[in-house]
Amino acid sequence: AQYSDLGDEGINSLLESSSRGAQTWMALDGFERANILRNIALVVEKHHEELAVLESATTSKPIRDARAEVSKVVEMFNYYSGWADKIIGQTIPVPGNWHTYTERVPWGVVVAITPWNAPIFTAGWNSAAPLAAGNSVIVKPSEFTPASTVRLAQLAHEAGLPDGVFNVAVGLGNTVGASLSTDSRVGKLSFIGSVPTGRKVAVAAAGKGIPTVLELGGKSANIVFADADLDRAVDGAIAAIFSNAGQSCVAGSRLLIERSIHDEFIERVADKTNRLKLGDPFDPATEVGPIFTKPQYDTVNSLIRSGIEYGGL
Ligand code: NAD
Repeated sequence: AQYSDLGDEGINSLLESSSRGAQTWMALDGFERANILRNIALVVEKHHEELAVLESATTSKPIRDARAEVSKVVEMFNYYSGWADKIIGQTIPVPGNWHTYTERVPWGVVVAITPWNAPIFTAGWNSAAPLAAGNSVIVKPSEFTPASTVRLAQLAHEAGLPDGVFNVAVGLGNTVGASLSTDSRVGKLSFIGSVPTGRKVAVAAAGKGIPTVLELGGKSANIVFADADLDRAVDGAIAAIFSNAGQSCVAGSRLLIERSIHDEFIERVADKTNRLKLGDPFDPATEVGPIFTKPQYDTVNSLIRSGIEYGGL
């Protein structure tokens, strides 16, 4: 499929729509917002398979993982619907005859920039939470994988969300993403993606005083001690690194193993790894699908080569 970059005019009209949407949405009370969010969960549930197929087709993640992630989106809307009428302030005792209190108010338009490796999953928690708090949202999905986010927004509106409350900005990071990170109509920004882009986005947003939440990547370690239940630890280590073909922010990409069980543990992990079922993402038995793009495939291969050069095998 092909689509064009939203462009300046598109971004402008989207922001206007979302600003109006925020006014409508924050004027509803928490109980009304909770009902609509619960309804979104029901509608997403009804379209569960359609969304999972769309996600698997566009990300090449195994269908069983895509199904699990869509189920999580249902949970997210159910969970955050419960918050919509429970966001409360405080009363603060101060000296003197004063009534001092805090109130939590919506930011207005919240922008969420999301990555290609978990599009609907990240769109879910980055829309359900700000919506529960009375904001409108604009999700800017990765240019590679916008389809499931567009469909999620359509379904949310079918479920009763007023116009302009959940918009999707499609296009490239350095055009659409960069414009949205620096527009003063944006009340808050959340960014999910790589560390270098996250740094860039945080600096750009700070220049406009837009508060930013960053959820980036890492190099996470699994630590296994000799007294662990090794069957479970082996399964855990394998799931941690091979889910989504290792293309995950929480991938357990380092294994630290107590010396006395090191050789046995490595052997068991290697043995089970060799038996993982690679293949067509649409085959329900497939555990590991393809690497997402050629550049990503080249990066993974160069990491493997450098591991071998440093004595890994
Ligand atoms: P990326 O940083 O290349 O892109 C992320 C998003 O930022 C995309 O939508 C992209 O279009 C946009 N973008 C790019 N340049 C931009 C700019 N100048 N201004 C504004 N937006 C811009 O990341 P990716 O390759 O799409 O995703 C993989 C990364 O995401 C990995 O590093 C992974 O660890 C991380 N990730 C983190 C989490 C988390 O919850 N912490 C979840 C999933 C993925």
